[in-house]
Amino acid sequence: NAGLGGWPARRAQMSPNRTAFVYEDRPLSYAEVHERTTRLASRLRDAGVRAGDRVAYLGPNHVAFAETMFATHVLGGIFVPLNFRLAAPEIAYMLEHSGASVLVYAPECAEQCAAAVRDLPGFPGLRTVVALGSPAEGERHYETWLSQGDPTPIDTPVALDDIALILYTSGTTGRPKGAMLSHANLAWNCFHVLIGVDVASTEVTLISAPLFHVAALNQTLLPTFLKGGTSVIMPSWDVERCYDLIEKHRVTWMFGVTAMFAAFARSPRWPGADLSSLRTLMSGGAAIPVALIRTYQERGLVFCQGYGMTETSPGATFLEAGESVRKVGSAGVPVFFANVRVVRPDLTPVAPGEPGEVLVQGPNVTPGYWRDPEATAAALAEGGWFHSGDIATLDDEGHLHVVDRVKDMYISGGENVYPAEIEAAIFEHPAVAEAAVVGVPDDKWGEVGRAFVVPRSGAAVTPGELRDFLRPRLAKYKIPVYVDVVDALPKTGSGKIRKPDLRRRPLPADP
Ligand code: AMP
Ligand code: MG
Repeated sequence: NAGLGGWPARRAQMSPNRTAFVYEDRPLSYAEVHERTTRLASRLRDAGVRAGDRVAYLGPNHVAFAETMFATHVLGGIFVPLNFRLAAPEIAYMLEHSGASVLVYAPECAEQCAAAVRDLPGFPGLRTVVALGSPAEGERHYETWLSQGDPTPIDTPVALDDIALILYTSGTTGRPKGAMLSHANLAWNCFHVLIGVDVASTEVTLISAPLFHVAALNQTLLPTFLKGGTSVIMPSWDVERCYDLIEKHRVTWMFGVTAMFAAFARSPRWPGADLSSLRTLMSGGAAIPVALIRTYQERGLVFCQGYGMTETSPGATFLEAGESVRKVGSAGVPVFFANVRVVRPDLTPVAPGEPGEVLVQGPNVTPGYWRDPEATAAALAEGGWFHSGDIATLDDEGHLHVVDRVKDMYISGGENVYPAEIEAAIFEHPAVAEAAVVGVPDDKWGEVGRAFVVPRSGAAVTPGELRDFLRPRLAKYKIPVYVDVVDALPKTGSGKIRKPDLRRRPLPADP
């Protein structure tokens, strides 16, 4: 098994007694992880999972996430982690589109899960549902299920180029797309992390961001595993818990998005906490503000940063911690084995300082989207150059500066939000004639949504009604915090909505 399915066995041989994971204060050694994933793989095989089959996971961070992923890979299967913040119809779409035959879900998601399954007429393909919850679930309870598995090692032929993950990511148009990542893609990104950061076998990494995003999984958990370090898995982001775990386990490495690091520094525990074990802070997904860099710097803590996306596993560029102040605002230089170009619409390279679209090529770049040859062809140009849809400049030292997005996406609490998706849901409301959604600044979440809605003539809709209408359709973080019912939307000569105008409108004091 050349893929990730072979990792637990290798690690169990090299460092059986070291701690791989800590979850809810329970440590699991590499030997235990190997045994548990082997048992789990045998149960998945009993459930009919074969090479290439999809196994989905729905839930907050849990050691079962990593175990289910490795077990799927032991069999050459494809792991499909789902965003547990999504609404039932969104989850139903992903289960159906991926054709998952097994779903492992957490108790927090039981309702969502039941509703999603109801949404799928006949629920094609899905044969086995395993619950992480209480033993009252009987045979379907994860621990019970796992314990009945056969611990005899399984060796399946898996090639590095086989697909390991399908990660659903929203775009500017239509349905979310399933970005496929191969075992090689994931391994190369791990190498990029090991090259960019001084990762040691003594690392104690706090997994504080959601694992269904490739960043938490592949920028921290998997590189830590590869080195034989320890990942402390936090179920979901919580500032108090974060402090507790750092102090208790002497955490050395933490990954987060800007909103998390900002909340951490605002905590009353910030001045008094013992953060002496922390060596590496890694941020990604958005540029980190200078003021925040300085706040951390005053405590001797520096950030390494990166730019990337799901489709590049995710690192595309990287800025070493030592450069974070001198090159503030920059997302760094291309990761070691990848190439990054910034180009004009005719694909010629830009001059320093001139904005263009970012293209990425390399061993960490996706082979394409699951069952979507059209989207694949549109995103991957000749030579394997992936079109990011991001606008950036290169400075005279070749450092990337992300300036804008071709797509009008905004980021709320680390989650990308695509206005087109929200607008489409708003249009389903019978009283709505026109709608436009933009991201506006927010102290807590970084950005939140603001919807401008024009009612049909003779019809009326209130902000409260609209939000109630959206709630069962969309994840909570996508529901616009501000809703303005207006008579008309500002348009360009060609009839396009002028979103920059909408973004500039003063916010009401009270949403
Ligand atoms: P995703 O595919 O969900 O991982 O989101 C990737 C997107 O996040 C990119 O296409 C960028 O638009 C944005 N992004 C990622 N890193 C940065 C960064 N360092 N600065 C600005 N935007 C970023
Ligand atoms: Mg994306």
